[in-house]
Amino acid sequence: MPDIVKILPTEVSNKIAAGEVVQRPSSVLKELLENSIDAKSSKITIIIKNAGKNLIQVIDDGQGMSKNDMHSSFIKHATSKINNIDDIFSIKSMGFRGEALAAISSVSMVEMSSSKLNENDGYYIEINGGNIISEKELNTNAGTSIKVQNLFFNVPARRNFLKSDFVELKHIINVFNNIAISHNEIEFSFINNGEEIFYLKRESLKKRIISIFGEKIRENLIPIDEDTQIANLHGFILKPEFAKKSRSNQYIFVNNRSVKSQFINHSIFSSFDGLLRDGYYPGYFLFIKIDTSKIDVNVHPNKTEIKFDDDQNLYSIINSAVKHCLGIYQVSPVLDFEKDPSMDISYSQVKSQPKIPEFEINSDFNPFQIFNDEKLGNLFSEKSKENIESDFENTVKEFTKIFQIFNKFIVSASTSSLIIINQNLAHQRILYEGFLKSIFESSADSQKLAFPIEINLSKQQLSMFNKIDSEFKSLGFEFGLAENLLEITSLPNQLKNNSIEEIIDDILDNDFDKSNSLSNSDFFAKALSKSSSIKSGEKLNSNEQEFLVNQLFSCKEPYLSPYNKQIFITLSKNDIENIF
Ligand code: ADP
Ligand code: MG
Repeated sequence: MPDIVKILPTEVSNKIAAGEVVQRPSSVLKELLENSIDAKSSKITIIIKNAGKNLIQVIDDGQGMSKNDMHSSFIKHATSKINNIDDIFSIKSMGFRGEALAAISSVSMVEMSSSKLNENDGYYIEINGGNIISEKELNTNAGTSIKVQNLFFNVPARRNFLKSDFVELKHIINVFNNIAISHNEIEFSFINNGEEIFYLKRESLKKRIISIFGEKIRENLIPIDEDTQIANLHGFILKPEFAKKSRSNQYIFVNNRSVKSQFINHSIFSSFDGLLRDGYYPGYFLFIKIDTSKIDVNVHPNKTEIKFDDDQNLYSIINSAVKHCLGIYQVSPVLDFEKDPSMDISYSQVKSQPKIPEFEINSDFNPFQIFNDEKLGNLFSEKSKENIESDFENTVKEFTKIFQIFNKFIVSASTSSLIIINQNLAHQRILYEGFLKSIFESSADSQKLAFPIEINLSKQQLSMFNKIDSEFKSLGFEFGLAENLLEITSLPNQLKNNSIEEIIDDILDNDFDKSNSLSNSDFFAKALSKSSSIKSGEKLNSNEQEFLVNQLFSCKEPYLSPYNKQIFITLSKNDIENIF
């Protein structure tokens, strides 16, 4: 029997490998755009014909290539971007595998012309199915133009596999969007079948998003900005009202590279808990900056997959940052300083003659009468109605903004929604984050007591106390323990107005093993926040109410109490209108 194992000719192996990099026209566009970005271009023009099946051309004004570099750029594993394996782990450029041009040119007809800055002698090469068929000196502008025609002309099976022009163009636009959003410093022109469908000048990220997705997205963008030791997050989250039935508005960038990540999607999705209708997905443009040594992008040739060293922590950072920014927008409408006032007026209004507004004034109208209204009064119990009226003095100034009902909830209205906060749960959250901070930063202030407080502990309480005595200390408690008698001599400032015996009794009656807490500190902070919080039934004056609302929305996680209970509900204007 003759030997049967043989090495495939380069042409065949390139075609096979090409399948990994080039699946469809949009993958060609992605590779070409990434190369132009790596070449530090400031303007990129994209020309597409028949959804890229017949032509994908990218013209840039970047560094350009010498004649020799043009030749080697089509050879597999030829790259200018890394030199050795260590470079892969600190990769800053978009490409690095040196595979794209080799793959693309083996399955299409490529024409490349390029010229380096300040060098007049440009060059031109034409390659069909991986073979150079012509080349010449050519005078061109500085930069590079790569024309990819008749994709898969020599792999009919793949060509037949392409979807309709409509579908392929959708993929192409998706690639373009990702690149354009993450490179707002670059000017783009996108020409499809002879028509310029996008022209994007250099602009801020926000303006870039609006230029691509239209003016209607503007008021739905909530900025996110969070700097932590693990990663830096910035970008925009779309308001829940802008959620879609598909995931098409979900953009994630890690170190400015578009990536797909199930766990990041999940983390954001769960931050929207309770805010989305069934079957709807949130939208976002999230940029994550992270130390390149803490990620691995070399998972797949497509480079859209990514692995993080510390994905658990990243999950919770993203989760709470998104909750935080959603929470802030609920009470304070996003201020938009970049907004161009002319955008407020619709085109039809601009065109039509202004109409003189008609006013009808009811001189008998008394805005405060609402509280005496029978119908409204029935919504509240008799007792709470009394309270509202007695609180009336305090809240007159602010009553459209913040007031308390049933001695239990704080109601706050913003321009677009009504929010009802459970005062007890909100205060637990505020205290919990404050306690955790003091414990970790050892920043607690305490106050000596004139008369020490003595508490008799049961056996069980004593063993609990021994588990968490260092947490007591780090929060500013000072104490002595003789047998089962606890003598407290100093108290943390935060607790000086509370009834300490009850609080300590309460905390020590908890069962750490059943508490679901991550650590002793977490357990202690939770238990203490629960026992020392403002309770339901406590009447709060307007300053206290306002303080509570402001503090809540400066929390990292304003949505859930330390024991995972929902702190507030929101009724949007739409929700309210739908009730009637
Ligand atoms: P990679 O980008 O992974 O290095 P490619 O096959 O995409 O591999 O490109 C090979 C090389 O060709 C690049 O490393 C770069 O030096 C050069 N190159 C490709 N496109 C351009 C361009 N638009 N401008 C300048 N150089 C380019
Ligand atoms: Mg490349």
